[in-house]
Amino acid sequence: MVIDLEGVKIIDVHCHPFLQNERPYMESEFLEELSLSVRPGMFATKIKTKTDSMYSGLNMYMQITIQRLAKYFSCEPTIEAVVEKRNVSARNFSEYTKNLFEDVQLEGLLVDYGYPTPAIPNQQFEKVVGFRTWEVYRIEPVMDRLREEHDSFSTFIEGYRADLRSALGRKGVLGLKSIIAYRSGLEIVSMDEKKATSQFDFYKENKRETVKELRDYCLHIAMEECTRAKKAMHIHTGVGDGEVLLHKASPNLLVTMLREKKYANTIVHLVHGGYPWMEEAAFMCSVFPNVYMDLSLQNPFAGHGVKRIISQVFEFAPFNKVMYGSDAFTIPEMNWLGVKLFKECFEEVLQSWVEKDYMSRKRAKTIAELVLYKNFEELYKDSL
Ligand SMILES: [Zn+2]
Repeated sequence: MVIDLEGVKIIDVHCHPFLQNERPYMESEFLEELSLSVRPGMFATKIKTKTDSMYSGLNMYMQITIQRLAKYFSCEPTIEAVVEKRNVSARNFSEYTKNLFEDVQLEGLLVDYGYPTPAIPNQQFEKVVGFRTWEVYRIEPVMDRLREEHDSFSTFIEGYRADLRSALGRKGVLGLKSIIAYRSGLEIVSMDEKKATSQFDFYKENKRETVKELRDYCLHIAMEECTRAKKAMHIHTGVGDGEVLLHKASPNLLVTMLREKKYANTIVHLVHGGYPWMEEAAFMCSVFPNVYMDLSLQNPFAGHGVKRIISQVFEFAPFNKVMYGSDAFTIPEMNWLGVKLFKECFEEVLQSWVEKDYMSRKRAKTIAELVLYKNFEELYKDSL
């Protein structure tokens, strides 16, 4: 008997809110929504052969999305047929979204409302999906806002700490989130108040300034507040959109900070599991009791690679440290495909472990449940 994960509930621990599109999609627009590329023109032309045609820019993950959606809609597996069906089905957008989520037993979302901007209010997104969501609270927009309200670094920091503390006190907020990998990188130095203070004027002039010591200082405060509130610090690791400082985004760069004694019990959640350095993240999960990772972004954007990634992550990561995620950020099909693809790939990996006699079917099923929702529920049980 093969491992079957259909029917197992799932919680997505990293995604973003979306709203209904204002008018029906053209095919190229639908592909743009699916894409990580934010540049126009990725899908401007078509490649034609005698028997086939496809949009340039199409990649494996999009190909799988079209193929699986065609099955869902019972139509031809072409972008033309899928987009036509989608435009009709999504007229009642909330109903359409709920049906997609139900189809894959997607029952909970931990949302980073910090993207897109301007922010989509929680209640508006919750109306679309039909249930309450959990939230991680981004620190960079708080810094950017408060820098304008304060003339000195010390009052800025006071206001910043108070803001984080009050957010962490709110029900439904499960932790803080930082995208410092997009600004000054993950090699965090210890708190240096003098240097941080000296950089405040540059930061006041331009919110995109590197101001490394100032940003590191602010991340330390976020870590301290998460420790105090017993909530999680989410840190973006690995690839992201085109702006990420890829050479400063490897999770291993965080190790020096993680070794600080005061963070021994701080829950650290490595968002995106550091892809393409997921083995580093997996290793860190295996040596730091307080470090966890999710598989968002690499799933589903690595397409067929998701099977390889799951297998590689479990070369080192303990079974109770890894959580499902998608990083879906534009349309509900992304959340849906994330689950669909992940379950398919995970089934194959688990099946191979049983066939190798590494474990029983029962154990394989337990590990599946841990990754799909139980690790999340256990880690965040005091905040849910
Ligand atoms: Zn994200």
